[in-house]
Amino acid sequence: MKEKLEQIKTLAISEICTAENTKQIEELRVKFLGKKGELTNILKQMGSLTAEERPIIGQVANAVRSDIENALSEKKSLLEENEKNAQIEKEYIDITMSGKKPNIGHLHPLTIVSDEIKEIFLGMGFSVSQGSEVEFDEYNFTKLNLPENHPARDTQDTFYITEKILLRTQTSSVQVHVMEEEVAKAKAENRELSPIRIISPGRVYRSDAVDATHSPLFHQIEGLVVDKGVTMADLKGTLETLMQKLYGADCKIRLRPHHFPFTEPSAEVDVMCFKCKGTGCSMCKQEGYIELLGAGMVHPKVLQGCGIDPEIYSGFAFGLGLERIVMRRYGITDMRLLYENDVRFLKQF
Ligand SMILES: [Zn+2]
Repeated sequence: MKEKLEQIKTLAISEICTAENTKQIEELRVKFLGKKGELTNILKQMGSLTAEERPIIGQVANAVRSDIENALSEKKSLLEENEKNAQIEKEYIDITMSGKKPNIGHLHPLTIVSDEIKEIFLGMGFSVSQGSEVEFDEYNFTKLNLPENHPARDTQDTFYITEKILLRTQTSSVQVHVMEEEVAKAKAENRELSPIRIISPGRVYRSDAVDATHSPLFHQIEGLVVDKGVTMADLKGTLETLMQKLYGADCKIRLRPHHFPFTEPSAEVDVMCFKCKGTGCSMCKQEGYIELLGAGMVHPKVLQGCGIDPEIYSGFAFGLGLERIVMRRYGITDMRLLYENDVRFLKQF
C-alpha cells in the first residue's frame, strides 16, 4: 500500500510538472485529491489494514497529500504569473508609436482664389453682396441696358426657366438689386445715397459647349462702386491694386477701349504677363499683356433705371472670370479639371 501511495505521488508530480495552464492544474487536483480521486480511493482501503500498520500508512498518506498539494500550488502560481504576463503582452499599447494621420482635405482652388480676392476687396472698403442664381430677365438684361431683341443677348446663350425667368448669365444682375435697394433705403430714411462699394462673387450659367476653356457653369466676380465724383482713374487704381496683390507689386494693367451695353465708356482690362513681365513670350502670344476682365463707367441709362441721377452720381463696374484667374495662377490648361472633382488633381493645391 505504501508503494502504491509513492507511485501516486510520483505520477502526480510528473503530471503537475508538464501541466500547461491553470485549468489543467485544477483537473489534476480533482484527479488526485478529489472525493473520487486516486488518493481517496487508496485511503478508503485503510480499513483492511492492521492496527499497527494504520498509523504508519496514515502518516505516509498525509505526507503524499501534502507533497501533491505543494506541487499543485507552486505550479499554479507559476502558471498564473505566466498567464498574467501573456495578457499584459497581448494588451500592450505602444504610446510612442506615431498615429495614422486623418485625411482632412482642403479648399478647392476656386474657393482659395475667390477668398483671396474677397479679402483684398474687403481691405479696400468693399462689402460682399450675394445675389440669386435664378434671376428675372429684367435684372439680367433689360435693366442693364440690354432691352429685348438687343443683339448682345444672343452672345450670352441663356438657360431660360420660363419666358421671364432664367439662370443668370452674369453677376452684373446683382448691381441692379444693390442700387435699387440703396435708392429705396435712402428714400425711406429721407437722406442722400450712401456710397455703394460691393463685390459680388458667384456662379453664372451659359449654355456653352463644354471644352477646355468653356463650361456651362462658371464663376464671375462683379464689382460696383457708385458715389459722387467717381472717375475712370478710380477704376484703374482699384484694379491695379487688385492685380498687384494677386500677382506682385510690379504688376501693371492697361485699359483698351471696348463696348459693353451696361458701361460707357467701356474697357477691356489687360494685365501684364507675369511670365515675361511685358516683353512677350509664348504664354501671352508675344503681346506682353493678357486679357483678364471687362470694366467701365456705369452707363447713365443703368443708373437712371435704378433711380439714381447720373448728373450727380457716377460709378464704375467690372466683372472678372474667376476660372481664368485660377487657371493663370496655377498653370491649369483645361477648365474641366476644376469641375471633375478628381482628388489626384485637387490634392496638388
Ligand atoms: Zn508673356
